Amino acid sequence: MSVVGIDFGTLHSKIGVARNRGIDIIVNEVSNRATPSLVAFGPKQRAIGEPAKTQEISNFKNTVGCLKRLIGRTVNDPELNDERKFLHATLVDVNGTVGAEVDYLGERQRFSATQLVSMYLGKLRDITSGELKVPVSDFVIAVPGWYTDIQRRAIQDAAAIAGMNVLRVINDTTAVALGYGITKSDLPDPENPRHVMFVDVGHSSMSVSIVAFAKGQLAVKGTGYDRHLGGRDIDYALLQHFSAEFKQKYKIDVLSSPKGTFRLAVSCERLKKILSANMEAPLNVESIMNDIDASSRLTRDEYEGLIAHLLERIPAPIKEALAESGLSVDQLDSVELVGGTTRIPAVRAQIQAALNGKALSTTVNQDEACARGATFACAFFSPTFRVREFNVKDINHYPIKVTWDRAPGDPDEDTELVVFPRGNTIPSTKVLTFYRKEAFELRAEYAEPEKLPGAINPWIARFSAKSVPPDPSGDLNCVKIKTRLNIHGTMGFEMAYVEVVEEREEPAAMEVDGEAVESAPSKKKRTVKKVDVPFVTGTTSLDPTIVDKCKELEAQMHTSDKLVQDTEDRKNALEEYVYDMRGKLEDRYGSYVKEEEKEKLMAMLQEAEDWLYSEEGEDATKSAYVAKLDGLKVVGDLIVNRYREAEKRPKDIAQLRQTI
Ligand code: ATP
Ligand code: MG
Repeated sequence: MSVVGIDFGTLHSKIGVARNRGIDIIVNEVSNRATPSLVAFGPKQRAIGEPAKTQEISNFKNTVGCLKRLIGRTVNDPELNDERKFLHATLVDVNGTVGAEVDYLGERQRFSATQLVSMYLGKLRDITSGELKVPVSDFVIAVPGWYTDIQRRAIQDAAAIAGMNVLRVINDTTAVALGYGITKSDLPDPENPRHVMFVDVGHSSMSVSIVAFAKGQLAVKGTGYDRHLGGRDIDYALLQHFSAEFKQKYKIDVLSSPKGTFRLAVSCERLKKILSANMEAPLNVESIMNDIDASSRLTRDEYEGLIAHLLERIPAPIKEALAESGLSVDQLDSVELVGGTTRIPAVRAQIQAALNGKALSTTVNQDEACARGATFACAFFSPTFRVREFNVKDINHYPIKVTWDRAPGDPDEDTELVVFPRGNTIPSTKVLTFYRKEAFELRAEYAEPEKLPGAINPWIARFSAKSVPPDPSGDLNCVKIKTRLNIHGTMGFEMAYVEVVEEREEPAAMEVDGEAVESAPSKKKRTVKKVDVPFVTGTTSLDPTIVDKCKELEAQMHTSDKLVQDTEDRKNALEEYVYDMRGKLEDRYGSYVKEEEKEKLMAMLQEAEDWLYSEEGEDATKSAYVAKLDGLKVVGDLIVNRYREAEKRPKDIAQLRQTI
């Protein structure tokens, strides 16, 4: 089993692997340590990650980003209006969940967000297996702590569609905390833990977590989130500012042109980064629209004014986490910053102000701490990669209740119970007791739906007991139901049973002074037996038949992409051979080729080149390119071999001389 951890980011994702007795962040096919979180569709193939980014401006309608923001939602979710500001693809309904409609293989096609994420995870898997040179299927993935049950299950479904298995869906700040804690050798005893606050401001959201560390363990004490506060909101504020300015200055409406908007947004992000280190920065956008080159400048002060409405939202999640933890700022031993947006001085200043001027640290790697932590979490499952024992106790963010219909004839029975309140430890198991004699149902749902992201469905799971074994007295039977909030942060009903007490009289043999006494009093032996109550349960996870269908389709698309890529590679190989051979026939191979042989090969190369640029050769099959190249090599290899022989000969002679 390979050990892989993924930080699934809004802008880009990072992959950690365990190897050489440590954890490495691996690079993708173009040697970047972060892979764009984008999936794109074309007339012949999909482009995922880096190639999706490269073609984004020319194909933005068929390029889907914001993947982690879409998964688990419905198309009518009001929070998706925020995503539409950053997305050009059309969002549609796909079997009750949000998806995108794109032009793919010459047709309009719809894919659910779960499928889109599965495509992306498949790409991250290919990058990883390419690097590790072994097949990869198990991994841990980090998601925002504000994700609900349905979003976490959708991530697992996406992995299943990609033929992968998520060993743990871990909250991203918890992953960061794990990576921080497991490498510290000086953690205190549990009576006197070290409290660290982690503040992550990324591309789309902000998370705060307060964690108590002690030897061999961590426990999350409080969390706070702003789901709509990140670097992209700053980029958006800049985009609005400059588009208004350019309306005056150049009489153009940049926002009316998707390409213009795209170009300006790219420049705004660049300007934002420059302003993190400089007091003033230029903005230049070549041919923004209508052949106009736009330019402007911004000072740090003006910039901070433009994003003041965002900066002022920074204290709230910090205060929320503190309140939940019951700790004061003074009780925090340190504050660690994570996420690209904490590089902005004004963001840091706001965080610091919310913490009464407390010093901020950046001892963890801002960009990679999350992927590293997720990789450590994965290592716990590995039988081969040895990692120090470390207990991780996370907490539940949204309270979960179970509801039911009153038992017939019991007007006083409650009809709901908050089983996992906010702050409840994750993982955790609870046993519920019901007095019933007939079939009954339970529903699990979020107790405060108004606190959930957007219009996320508060429904979590259904439990339905088909029948209850009769109690010997004919009375109500005591049914116990085991519920679990598991390590992924999802909840379910796991087991249902009645306890049957069996009492058997056992005439106990009794001895008095070594002699058996016949009339010893009999002994009652009580044994408690668990008898299963048959039940069915449903959750928001995809039905296995749908997963199988999506999996088959995904495998087909993957194979077809690979064929397109291989064909492209073969075509390039043929083209390269033509140019390379032609050049070398003139110099390097010149003295090893007969005139008529050269003429023949030159003619063949010309023919191949003409074919490559003909309609037929432009778009041929993989085998056609391979056959063409093989044909050229029949003649070409004779010459190449003659040259190689001749090159080798002096070396062979020299070697021979030495051995004599
Ligand atoms: P999220 O965690 O919200 O899903 P993410 O993990 O993809 O998103 P990060 O990689 O933490 O996001 O951060 C990316 C953001 O940080 C981008 O908006 C980027 O522009 C911003 N960023 C990176 N470097 C700087 C910098 N030097 N100055 C300002 N912003 C920066
Ligand atoms: Mg992040």
